[in-house]
Amino acid sequence: MNNIRYTVLITGANRGLGLEFTKQYAADGWQVIACCREPKSAAALNTLKNTYPKNIVVYALDVANFGQIDKLAELLTGKKIDILLNNAGIYPESASLDMNYEDWMQAFKVNTMGPYKIVETFIKNVAASELKKIVLISSKMGSLSDNHIGGSNIYRTSKAAANMMMKSLSLDLKEQGIACGILHPGWVQTDMGGPNGLINTQQSISGLRQVIAELNLNNCGRFIAYDGKEIAW
Ligand code: NAP
Repeated sequence: MNNIRYTVLITGANRGLGLEFTKQYAADGWQVIACCREPKSAAALNTLKNTYPKNIVVYALDVANFGQIDKLAELLTGKKIDILLNNAGIYPESASLDMNYEDWMQAFKVNTMGPYKIVETFIKNVAASELKKIVLISSKMGSLSDNHIGGSNIYRTSKAAANMMMKSLSLDLKEQGIACGILHPGWVQTDMGGPNGLINTQQSISGLRQVIAELNLNNCGRFIAYDGKEIAW
């Protein structure tokens, strides 16, 4: 008997926060559509899939490859997706007044336009689901009011733009009954966050899952941290 009730699609599911999201949702009995760029070399994700073979299905997805997003949508036609979780992200180094414009464009593609394209492409799957939620894993570094030290222009601008994109989508999609959340995971010990991160992935994702569980049409379109605290734009 298949007793899986809800489905979540996660990008960047092979390591860091995406892997922990996959682990926690699968352990909780969800179906996880775990997307990553290189499934064959995604050792930790494949091990997790062996632990939860009925819950995890892995697909190749580079969020900067819009043709690949369209192809995945064809494969998932008619599949209900309760939570669409845009997690994949990059943090290219950027020194002030010495900009690498290729890196800047790539960051916008991965952190901003890819998530938008994913929403656009899978909107019918979300609209057909029971929970109808779309989440962006953003960053406090995309907050204008929280920027006290400058720098990191590539990452900051791509996340600030992604925040605006999701804020607009939260208003645009409300009439379809879809709630959009913009979430900050904390400073987390991952490849991106580094070893000095203040919390581990388990703490971050437990908190984020609670925030996502509480996301609804009355509180959507806000910028919320893993501990439930609101962040100023
Ligand atoms: P991470 O450990 O560096 O993992 C990044 C993930 O994104 C990997 O799975 C990576 O896949 C994937 N990815 C990168 N480019 C991709 C692409 N073009 N297509 C598909 N997947 C791609 O980072 P993390 O800490 O887990 O970060 C996850 C999210 O949280 C990001 O959006 C990040 O900006 C945000 N965030 C993190 C922190 C923190 O402290 N860690 C703080 C604030 C916000 P590959 O293995 O193929 O590269």
